[in-house]
Amino acid sequence: MNFPDRFDVIVVGGGHAGTEAALAAARMGSKTLLLTHNVDTLGQMSCNPAIGGIGKSHLVKEVDALGGAMAVATDKGGIQFRVLNSRKGPAVRATRAQADRQLYKAAIREILESQANLQIFQQSADDLIVQGDRVEGVITNMGVRFMAPSVVITTGTFLGGVIHIGMENHAGGRAGDAPSIALAKRLRELPFRVDRLKTGTPARIDRRTVDFSVMQEQWGDTPLPVMSYLGSVEQHPEQVCCYVTYTNEKTHDIIRGGLDRSPMYAGVIEGVGPRYCPSIEDKVVRFSDRDSHQIFVEPEGLTTNELYPNGISTSLPFDVQLNMIHSIKGFENAHVVRPGYAIEYDYFNPQDLKSSLETKFIDGLFFAGQINGTTGYEEAAAQGLLAGANASLKVQGREAWCPRRDEAYIGVLVDDLITLGTKEPYRMFTSRAEYRLILREDNADIRLTEKGRELGLVDDHRWAVFCEKRDHIEKENQRLASTWVLPNTEEAELINPKLKSPLNREYSLFDLIKRPEVGYQDVAALKGEPVTESQQVAEQVEIQIKYEGYIQRQQEEVERLRKNENTKLPDDLDYDAMSGLSNEIKLKLKDVRPATIAQASRISGVTPAAISLLLVHLKKRD
Ligand code: FAD
Repeated sequence: MNFPDRFDVIVVGGGHAGTEAALAAARMGSKTLLLTHNVDTLGQMSCNPAIGGIGKSHLVKEVDALGGAMAVATDKGGIQFRVLNSRKGPAVRATRAQADRQLYKAAIREILESQANLQIFQQSADDLIVQGDRVEGVITNMGVRFMAPSVVITTGTFLGGVIHIGMENHAGGRAGDAPSIALAKRLRELPFRVDRLKTGTPARIDRRTVDFSVMQEQWGDTPLPVMSYLGSVEQHPEQVCCYVTYTNEKTHDIIRGGLDRSPMYAGVIEGVGPRYCPSIEDKVVRFSDRDSHQIFVEPEGLTTNELYPNGISTSLPFDVQLNMIHSIKGFENAHVVRPGYAIEYDYFNPQDLKSSLETKFIDGLFFAGQINGTTGYEEAAAQGLLAGANASLKVQGREAWCPRRDEAYIGVLVDDLITLGTKEPYRMFTSRAEYRLILREDNADIRLTEKGRELGLVDDHRWAVFCEKRDHIEKENQRLASTWVLPNTEEAELINPKLKSPLNREYSLFDLIKRPEVGYQDVAALKGEPVTESQQVAEQVEIQIKYEGYIQRQQEEVERLRKNENTKLPDDLDYDAMSGLSNEIKLKLKDVRPATIAQASRISGVTPAAISLLLVHLKKRD
C-alpha cells in the first residue's frame, strides 16, 4: 500500500543522527517523515549517559549553532556539568554533561513533536524503493510504501546487529531492541562497500549495593556550565555527584582467567572495536604493565538506581563479569542490573559518500551516523544534521552545503571519513582538526549561525539572540580599544597590583587584556561600564583579544590553502592517463575520487609532488 502523503525527505532511524536529520530537514521547510522502530526510544542513549567531552562538545555546539536539538536537550537533562581542559587553551576546552537518560529522551521527544513539517511513524524500514540509480522511497515491514526523493539512513548499530556476551550471541540492535536484518540485506545488494565493526558497553549496577564511602567524590563545576548557546543554568535539573574507583591486580587476574571465553579473544567477533574506548579486557591485555584502571561511577538518572561504571565495558561471560565487578573497591556487594555486552554491526565505507553525505551510487540516498563507521552520539548528531540539511537542499534544487575543515569540526569529520575512510570506529578529537584555534567550542555560533540562518536551519529566536551577542561583542571590543588608562591615575593604582610591572605609559583596556597576567574581568569595569553582563560575550571578547595574533596567522594559512581547496578535480579525470603518477597513487585517487586538490592532498600517500602533477595536468586541460 502506498501511504497517501508523499514526503520530501524520509529519515530512517530515530537515534542521534536520525533525530537531528529529521529536525534539520523539517526546519528547512521540507515535508519530513521520521520512520523509526519504536517511538519510545527516540533519542535513546545506547551506551553511556553523557554528552560532550573533548572534541565531541565542539560538534554538539556546532549542531546547536545550526539550530539542532542535542545541546538544548542536554541542558534540560544534564545532572552534572564540567568543563574539561579548563586550565588549557580555549581551543581544547570541552564541556561535558552527565545526563539523566529519561530527561534527555523526553526533551528530544518534545522538540520532535513540536517541530512543524515533521511526522513520526513507528515501523521498521525493511526495503528501499530504487529506480535505476535513484531512490524513491522506503517500504516498511508492514508493506507500507512511503515515497520521497530524498532518504536519509541513520540505522546506527542495528544493521545485521549481533550481541555477544561471552561465547553466547544473538541477533539484536542493542540490548532490548531487535536488529535490522531485512534492510541490512537490501543495502548489501547495492554497490556499497560494507564491513563489520563492534562496540561494547559495561554492566549496570544498582546504587543501593555500592559502598561510595571508599570512592573519590567528583562534583561538577561551579559556576555551572551550559551546553546550548540558548541555554541557562535555570534549565538544569538537580545536580549530582559522580565517584571514582579503580580496578586492581585481582580484577586483572579474573579478566585474564576469562579470556579463553571472551568472544574477542576467541575470535568469535570479527568487527574492529573503538581504539579510544576499549573494553576492560582489551585494556588489561594491551597495557599489561598497568596494575589498575580508573572507573568513573556515573548515575544514569535522578529517578533510577542504575549506575554506569564508565571504563569497564566488556563482552566477557556473565560469571566473569560478576567476579570482576565484585573485585573492585566499593563494588564488593554490587548487584548487576544489566550485563555488559559487545555488539557487531554492518557499516558502509564512507569513501562511497560525497561530502554532502549523499551516496555516490544512489541519487537522493544519504547515510549518517554510526552506519558511516563513526562512534558516539555527537558524531552521529553532527552527520545527521548535515545529511538532513543536504537532503532538504536537494529537494529544493539548491546546492549542497559542505562545510570546510576550517569552518567546522563537522567539516573535519566528514572530510576525514570520505577521504580516508575508516577501518575502526571513528571518534572526534581536537587533534584531528588542523585549525583548532579557529574552531573552538566557544565560537561555534559565530562560525556557523549565519550560515544556518541562510540555509533555513535557524529560527527567529535563535537568530535574534545571536545577532544581539555578535553586536555586543563588536561594541565591547570597540569600547575596550578606545578606553585608555593613564599612569599615575586612580585606575592605574587599581590595576597595577595585577601587573608584572606597573603602567609606565598610556594603555587601552584592549591592550591590557593582551597581557598574560590580565583577564577581561580585571579591566572590564576599570573605566566605564561593559556593554553587557553576558558571560558569553565576556568570554568571547577575552579570547578574541588574547589570541588575536595566533588566530590571524591561522586565518592567513587558511586563505593560502583555500586557493587549492577551490581547485576542483573533474569527476571524469582519467588518472590512468596521467604520466608521472605512481600506480599506487593512481589507485588511491581512483578509489577516493577527490573533489578538490586539497582533498587529494589529504589522502595518505598522495605526495606534494603528485599534487603538483595534478595541478599541471589541470592547467593543460584548461
Ligand atoms: P543509534 O543511536 O543506534 O540509532 C539508530 C536508530 O535507528 C534507532 O532508533 C533504531 O531503532 C533505528 N532503526 C534501526 N534500523 C531501523 C529500521 N530498519 N527501520 C526503522 N528504524 C530503524 N559510543 C561512544 O561514543 N562510546 C561508546 O563507548 C559506545 N559504546 C556503545 C556500546 C553499545 C553496546 C552500543 C549499542 C553503542 C555504543 N556507542 C558508543 C555508540 C553510540 O550509541 C552510537 O554512536 C550512537 O548512538 C549512534 O547514533 P545513530 O543515530 O547513528 O544510531
